[in-house]
Amino acid sequence: MADIQVGKMTARPCPFCGWEPDVYQPANYETDQGTKWGRFICGRCLAKGPEVRTGYKDWRVWGPEAVAEWNSRSGDKPTGDTK
Ligand SMILES: [Zn+2]
Repeated sequence: MADIQVGKMTARPCPFCGWEPDVYQPANYETDQGTKWGRFICGRCLAKGPEVRTGYKDWRVWGPEAVAEWNSRSGDKPTGDTK
């Protein structure tokens, strides 16, 4: 597993509303199914990034992966599918 740290994270602006993410804000992370899954969410329009496995750990652990997924999604053109 790559050595990733919260301090190195940078997130692209939201592809839907242009919101500039704050990767240090816990409120921008959301968990699902008893924290089994986690994702980065837009703080303005609540667009959701792809889910990643949390390992039931703190968001600081899986956050970088969630942000990486968010960034990959950010390159897509908006389709209206915010899953
Ligand atoms: Zn947004």
